[in-house]
Amino acid sequence: MLSRRKFIQLSSLAAPLLSVKDVFSQSGKGITKPIVISTWAPNVKANAEAWRILGNKGRALDAVEAGVKIPEADPNDMSVGYGGLPDRDGKVTLDACIMDEFANIGSVMALEEIIHAISVARLVMEKTPHVQLAGPGALQFALSQGFKRENLLTPQSEKEWKEWLKTSKYDPMTIPNMLEQKDQKEPVPYPWPSAMVNHDTIGMVAMDDMGNLSGACTTSGMAYKMHGRVGDSPIIGAGLYVDNEVGAATSTGVGEEVVRICGSHTVVELMRQGLSPALACRKAVERMIKLRGKKAMDVQVGFLALNKKGQYGAFAIQKGFNYCVQTDNSGSKVFDSKYIMA
Ligand code: ASP
Repeated sequence: MLSRRKFIQLSSLAAPLLSVKDVFSQSGKGITKPIVISTWAPNVKANAEAWRILGNKGRALDAVEAGVKIPEADPNDMSVGYGGLPDRDGKVTLDACIMDEFANIGSVMALEEIIHAISVARLVMEKTPHVQLAGPGALQFALSQGFKRENLLTPQSEKEWKEWLKTSKYDPMTIPNMLEQKDQKEPVPYPWPSAMVNHDTIGMVAMDDMGNLSGACTTSGMAYKMHGRVGDSPIIGAGLYVDNEVGAATSTGVGEEVVRICGSHTVVELMRQGLSPALACRKAVERMIKLRGKKAMDVQVGFLALNKKGQYGAFAIQKGFNYCVQTDNSGSKVFDSKYIMA
């Protein structure tokens, strides 16, 4: 419960919370490549799809696009693509972005009725003079590229949204107890205990056999958000950043907090200064908490990063963030992220 959570005082953060192993070598010695890492354990399936390309000496960009299309098409993943929880008006609106080793970028925001937002983002990158398209314009572009309009609201997502409407007073900052205390009828006001909120945005970063990095991030965003709300996930530098000389990072959690510190870019810049992926993620979390205090301490954000040596690491505000890593044909390993709130 929130009331029992204790924040590890910033003054004590000078003392290392991470072991040498966490900081320097979660993935062993030398350069580990190819490699793909994704936010959240269920995305082992996404990693496996990405690996089909990486394991055959394919390009990281193709791998991350193919990988994140798995949860986008999965109706049981209620935070991404088809079956994603809708906004407070019952509309599923998708955010996605992609970035390659040449700093090519593409993004779509608040895209409706198209399952594979990531592929639209890639085409924004490759076929338009722009880097971001939003709302009806993004849909118009997708249709012009041959994507089909589909209803993304599954019966299950619709049912949950209608339950939410009963108690929410149409307030996006209030959600019913979905995961805890199911017997309680009262909605829980913001900030929510992190365990109650589905944060399943997929952020995936990969390094291919050539040593090149790319990343992709795709989500249906915060459940029951205001119509038109855009989070961190489609914003290059916030939800995703790739620098082919340094590394790549991605994020999940409350986008409003991530955007404020340009989270993923911050993590990459910290790696540029020599920090390990895990420590860079931790420093970004500390920065959020220093800036926002309790407002950040009561929500969940997780960062995940990969450097050019194939070392990877993560750090989150709350317990519960995990990620999966694949480096060979034997499949992904899942790791629990360290976190700042105890
Ligand atoms: N980062 C996403 C957003 O704010 C949501 C999430 O990861 O849960 O839209």
